Amino acid sequence: MTASIRPEPRAGVMSIAPYVPGKSKATGGGKLYKLSSNETPLGASPRAIAAYKACADHLELYPDGTSTALREAIAGQFGLSPDRIVCGAGSDEILNLLTHAYVGPGDEGIFTAHGFLVYKIAITAAGGTPVVVPETNLTTDVDAILAAVTPRTRIVFVANPNNPTGTYIPFDEVRRLHAGLPANVLLVLDAAYAEYVRRNDYESGIELVATSQNVVMTRTFSKIYGLANLRIGWCYAPDHVCDALNRIRGPFNLGGPSIAAGVAAIQDREFTESAVAHNEAWLPRVTAALAALGLVVTPSVGNFILIHFPDVDGKRAPDADAFLSANGVVLRRMDAYGLPGALRMTIGSAEANEATIAALAAFLKV
Ligand code: PMP
Repeated sequence: MTASIRPEPRAGVMSIAPYVPGKSKATGGGKLYKLSSNETPLGASPRAIAAYKACADHLELYPDGTSTALREAIAGQFGLSPDRIVCGAGSDEILNLLTHAYVGPGDEGIFTAHGFLVYKIAITAAGGTPVVVPETNLTTDVDAILAAVTPRTRIVFVANPNNPTGTYIPFDEVRRLHAGLPANVLLVLDAAYAEYVRRNDYESGIELVATSQNVVMTRTFSKIYGLANLRIGWCYAPDHVCDALNRIRGPFNLGGPSIAAGVAAIQDREFTESAVAHNEAWLPRVTAALAALGLVVTPSVGNFILIHFPDVDGKRAPDADAFLSANGVVLRRMDAYGLPGALRMTIGSAEANEATIAALAAFLKV
């Protein structure tokens, strides 16, 4: 036996920089304000929590492998056909399944410069080539995407709104993108933050999915519904795409407690509305307060904001991160997104938001 011979992952796998989640700990003692992972400060709907607990007596049983109750509940809320919904263990799983179904060695997948990190990981893991296109003012640039399309392009990911920039493109731009793509390219509209958007010219993509053969919309229960810990995502897709995903997904990819909690969460509209109202109140307030401190903030339509720090000794983003952490406030470093001068702050509870504003005021004065 030769010690140097061992199984090696497929080409590309070891070139992937592992996804690093937002930090959960501060360096300082005292109260922790974790605003690093775009989690809701409001928890989950009490009805979702009760539905989850009610599953505790039957953990020995396999769940329904087709997540029927959840697909029907989602379909009911959005007026969709349950047959055109596929559920996944977070929308991360859906993004990975889509990539593995449509991208292989020699194929290209396009996403934008500051797009969600999972796109690159998924494309590379599938053996494909990630193609990164520039953004304009930290916003998806449709012309840049269209210019990058080649005969090898198989998939295009657009997070709308995008994480971590918080920017979005209006729906006529999404339509223009779709119109310019070859019919064999899959356009994935990642609408993880759709519920938070309050803009007349925004649509999550439902209509475009319904009227085309090459568009998929992905959604998540991790954000507004407060169920990140249960890993629930879904997509609305053409029949033939659902068929492909259902062939390659794990046969029981969602646990029963996730299915049950998801059903209860999506039906608790009052809870969702209160979460939207919280964000609507705090997003402009935090944005204005940070601007008043002299910080540049990218205008956001999501539940988070991108804060840009001055390129001045002692005042850069890593300095701010260290200062905030020592004061119990954890934001997200943006180096992995190619934005080393910025930190991303999730809109938190009133207390967490005030604490962050106060800590940043103190940081800028020191
Ligand atoms: N898409 C975007 C744009 C996101 O920000 C996230 C969460 N960070 C996801 C997808 C994945 O969310 P989940 O897997 O929890 O559904």
